[in-house]
Amino acid sequence: MDKKQNIKELSYQELSEYLSSIGEPAFRAKQLWQWLWQKNVTGFDQMTNLSKKLRARLKEDFVFEPVEIYSYQQSPTDQTIKYTFRLKGNHLVEGVLIPSRSSERVTACISTQVGCPLGCKFCATGTMGLKRNLHAYEIYDHLWLLNQQSQKHFGRKLTNIVVMGMGEPLLNLDNVLLALDIITSDQGLGMSPQRITLSTVGMVKELYRLADMKPKFNLAVSLHSAIDEVRSGIMPVNKSNPLPDLVKALKYFHKQTGKRITFEYLMLAGVNDSIKDAKALADFTRNFPSKINLIEYNETPHSIFRKSPPERVREFVNFLENRNLVVTVRRSKGSDIAAACGQLVKITDRNKQLFNFDHLKPENKNIS
Ligand code: SAH
Ligand code: SF4
Repeated sequence: MDKKQNIKELSYQELSEYLSSIGEPAFRAKQLWQWLWQKNVTGFDQMTNLSKKLRARLKEDFVFEPVEIYSYQQSPTDQTIKYTFRLKGNHLVEGVLIPSRSSERVTACISTQVGCPLGCKFCATGTMGLKRNLHAYEIYDHLWLLNQQSQKHFGRKLTNIVVMGMGEPLLNLDNVLLALDIITSDQGLGMSPQRITLSTVGMVKELYRLADMKPKFNLAVSLHSAIDEVRSGIMPVNKSNPLPDLVKALKYFHKQTGKRITFEYLMLAGVNDSIKDAKALADFTRNFPSKINLIEYNETPHSIFRKSPPERVREFVNFLENRNLVVTVRRSKGSDIAAACGQLVKITDRNKQLFNFDHLKPENKNIS
């Protein structure tokens, strides 16, 4: 017998066609869609405005494979909460809730791949390799759960989303765009695209494709060095996407969208934090309206890098500010629970030792 299809892998169009093929009126598609996406139910019996007969038919034809919260842990210092979600096939990905100090803003950080194939040298996720891409509904569902958890823990819905968890979003672009479409649609979560930021290492070919779609969300590029040799040394992807090509693609992106581009720059002691590096960064970012986020490196016990000392960061910032560039320095949130970006990693025994994921014991999982 064929395996039943997961109902959340159907587009609105496909759902409508299916319903009309079994003799249901057109308005059913909207009702069904609302149950699946806005109310995010996990069983057909919860769809109380559909007839028992239709529910039975849906049960015969489809299955649910819901994303579940597997565990969570809150940082005692900054209240950041890291969640581990279980996907079909027992894959685990992570998402993080980051409240601002006054909880006026709550930002969700979401994942797009189980692991990541790009192997940046400073990134824990990169050590996993790629297991698989997330389906659009899996991206949407873990965001939906984070939104629910935000209301529970911080008394408010999400205000911002960063696509900065596990994975490289431009390597799973179709599913990411589909998920963001529903997240921003009134038929989904109705969030403003202006409050969404997608972070990429800057895959050149995909950036052109994205630019032509004129997205309304914000783009952040993980630059980490504006000198080709240095960048290739810490980010192997730079070899096939070198900086001159990246500049061209980003100029095109700006032309198509009119958007300012954010550059993320991890401060790695002795690697990319000299005045020569700052000058290269200044020259690079002058090609388009831009903003620079200097990020404190999250050291892990086995990291080969160290974070830049504060006085070095200060000199770097001064250099950039004296050239009238917009610079912010971001302290990593949630670093005490390995929740900060770049520390999201699947829990294998080795990583359990590395990152001390003791909280991920099965008895912790029923938390809803
Ligand atoms: N693949 C995308 C999005 C996920 S990574 C990208 O690389 O942009 C999200 C951000 O976390 C990136 O800017 C990445 O460079 C940064 N990051 C990775 N490892 C880190 C670490 N150990 N400390 C701080 N930031 C890190
Ligand atoms: Fe992948 Fe981003 Fe980590 Fe690089 S920094 S390995 S692209 S998740």
